[in-house]
Amino acid sequence: MFNKILIANRGEIAVRIIRACREMGIRTVAVYSEADRDALHVHWADEAVCIGPPPSSESYLNIPHILMAALITEAEAIHPGYGYLSECSSFAEACESQGIRFIGPPHSAIAQMGDKALARKIAQQAGVPVLPGTPDAIRSEEEALRAASQIGFPLLIKAAAGGGGRGIRRVNTEEELLPALRIAQSEAQAAFGSPDVYLEKYIPEPRHIEVQVLADSHGNVLHLFERECSLQTPRHQKMVEEAPAPHVDEVTRRALGEAAIKVARAVGYQNAGTVEFLMDSNGNFYFIEMNTRLQVEHPVTEQVTGIDIVQWQIRIAAGERLPFKQSDIRLSGHAIEVRLTAEIPEHDFTPSTGRLSEWTPPGGPGIRVDSHLYTGYSIPPYYDPLLAKIIAYAPSREEAVARLTRALHEVRIEGVQTTRDFLLRLVQTPEFLQGRVSTPFVPRFLRGYAPIGGVVQ
Ligand code: ADP
Repeated sequence: MFNKILIANRGEIAVRIIRACREMGIRTVAVYSEADRDALHVHWADEAVCIGPPPSSESYLNIPHILMAALITEAEAIHPGYGYLSECSSFAEACESQGIRFIGPPHSAIAQMGDKALARKIAQQAGVPVLPGTPDAIRSEEEALRAASQIGFPLLIKAAAGGGGRGIRRVNTEEELLPALRIAQSEAQAAFGSPDVYLEKYIPEPRHIEVQVLADSHGNVLHLFERECSLQTPRHQKMVEEAPAPHVDEVTRRALGEAAIKVARAVGYQNAGTVEFLMDSNGNFYFIEMNTRLQVEHPVTEQVTGIDIVQWQIRIAAGERLPFKQSDIRLSGHAIEVRLTAEIPEHDFTPSTGRLSEWTPPGGPGIRVDSHLYTGYSIPPYYDPLLAKIIAYAPSREEAVARLTRALHEVRIEGVQTTRDFLLRLVQTPEFLQGRVSTPFVPRFLRGYAPIGGVVQ
């Protein structure tokens, strides 16, 4: 096992990884930007190294500085968390070439899945259903027109290198196709450094259902069941996630797990990963992409399986063998996570920053809070608006919703605007209470959302 791990991240996830390391007796090195001197991960880690100025491009994405920090502190491994360098195959490769273990999959798996058009092809070849679409990046306008007439409208143009809900454009009619294609290609070039885009059939009211996988370096690939993440902002940012997905029968659950394992095996996957699917209103599911890293929403799976995913990421990277079989992994109870963010929903989720004059997190039975906040902390304007993940766990979904609602009422946060009231209203809608939501639900709910003078019941 490693003696020391460097965490190439910030915020709640850096804190989460430090917690896992502490429990395993591993020393930690935090890296931080000049804007994060007072961040909790810096206080909590055994050592901390400043890696640059506030903009992420000069600090948390600064590969030479991060590698240097690892070499100076003699860290044997780097955990990239999520976002930042977690899906950067050249970073994973650079770590290994410096003799530092990258806590994640092999760089080849990151590269293959990082090209979403190629990932679709790999999934299809592995016998996993994908939506009708183009097998490769679009090479000509004629090809786009031909493919689109086969797929039908509406369809989506997706950037092959896209991610985080960016690089997706809906096209409703044939007339819109070519202008939209040109814009999508130039936007993809600007945002992701590659103009490659592909077409995919649009599903009208899909559910987003994803499967957590764990794979060791000895050929064992297991799944940890599914999560539902259909509550998303209009820009496809997940807001609420739960495990298991409501109203998914055992046959479908097993098929989802088996499909995820096939995809993971097809790229020689190791470590923790997530295979994402869309489910149509008939219950058919289709692969959309694989995230080759830890997900924000991993805690709900930890709660219902009792498996510490972050600790297993570390053990797998150190060469340990998964000690359980698929049949040993059991689902127990229900977990729901909400992402409390410093954003203003009624103003198109504009970020809000400020100094927290008060932060009192919720607690009590069945509540887990993953957060980097403390009273007096100033939220820097440079980074992700995530403040805290509040996770409710209970024997049944109904009880988990009740706990979550109770916990959201307990939150006391002053000094910054948050999504708390919005989340409270969302989790009390009849649709959510029944577990019957699809991805257009939040955008629709937002159109009728009137917080000023509105009463939270
Ligand atoms: P990203 O890589 O940016 O996360 P995904 O391909 O995973 O993009 O899709 C993100 C979200 O976009 C999905 O959760 C879903 O809400 C929506 N979406 C993606 N593909 C489709 C589709 N074919 N039809 C309808 N909605 C889709």
